[in-house]
Order: sequence, then C-alpha cells, then structure tokens
Amino acid sequence: MNEAEVLEIFRGSGAYLEGHFLLTSGRHSAAYVEKFMVLQQPRHCGALCAALADEFRDLAPTVVVGPAVGGILLAYETARALGVRGIFLERENGRLVLRRGFEILPQDRVLVVEDVVTTGTSVFEVLGALGREVSEGRVVGVGHLVDRSSGSVDFRVPRQRALLTLDLPSWEASECPLCREGKPLTKRGSRAS
Ligand SMILES: [Zn+2]
Repeated sequence: MNEAEVLEIFRGSGAYLEGHFLLTSGRHSAAYVEKFMVLQQPRHCGALCAALADEFRDLAPTVVVGPAVGGILLAYETARALGVRGIFLERENGRLVLRRGFEILPQDRVLVVEDVVTTGTSVFEVLGALGREVSEGRVVGVGHLVDRSSGSVDFRVPRQRALLTLDLPSWEASECPLCREGKPLTKRGSRAS
C-alpha cells in the first residue's frame, strides 16, 4: 500500500479533516486526523495493519504491543497479519502497564504500534514501560499509521516506519494565520494522539 492509497483511506473515511482546529497542546492547526473514523471500519483497519505487518515481517516479531485505546485495535490486527500475539498497555495510576495476564516473555521480539504520531509522547511512554526489552535489544521496531510530525520524531529503535507521513503545520494562537483570517475555531484532539 503506497502513501497515496493510505491518504485516500483516511480522506474517504472522513478521518482527515481540514479546517481550523484547536489541538490539546493549545496550538492551532489547519488539519486534524480523527483516527477512529478509520479504525471503526474493520476492512480499513485490517488492510492498514496488514501493510504495517509487511514492513516488519522480516524482523520476526513474536508479539505486537500498542497503547490503549487506539493501539488495542492496531496491535490486534497487526498481530493477526503476522500470526503472533497482540497485547496492549493501559494506564494505571498514571503509568502505562501490562495488565490482564499479558506478559512479554524473555524470548519475545517486540513490535510497538501506534496510530498517529504527533510528538511521539505515547510511543516514548510505551518504550519507557518496555525498558528491559529495549535495553536487551528485543524491541525490533515501531510502526505507526500516520506520522504528522513530517518525520521529525526518532524513537531510536532498529526500524521505524509510518504508512503515511504528513507535514501538518501548527501554530501558537498568537501566530495563527487562520485566526487572522477570522476562520471559526473547532476544538479537536486528545493528548493520546
Ligand atoms: Zn487559529
């Protein structure tokens, strides 16, 4: 699947929104990716995750891990395509942890997946939670659907892939050209994305 096809899936699902958005960070942006508009459609979610799986199959991951909530679906579908386990981290007392009997075994090779990377905060948190696996070199890669940082975030893992890289500028409110044009502002976004 090439980038144009991925973008078409996002646009066609109404996940790629254009306008004037207030992000959780407080910054303003002309575009917003509402990932669950895509993820709600198993056909699209499955196809995107299969493409993500193809990017990492040669590294032989044995478990796919994502952060709740979006990462639950991504880890599951990517794991399905690879024929391995798919598990997720969720927040407990403010920290991302494995619960529900999930564990990463000493022989596991871990693939981390995430939906949309803006600043990479949630992926860095996942890598922090997988500290032992990272230090032992058993995290083989990080795969995500959309990189809206135009490729500026480096997770320092053996392989990092996004299916779609977007350059979506954002501005402080005081410098926002859309505010200057008087365009109405929509509140969107969550820290998790
Ligand atoms: Zn603005």
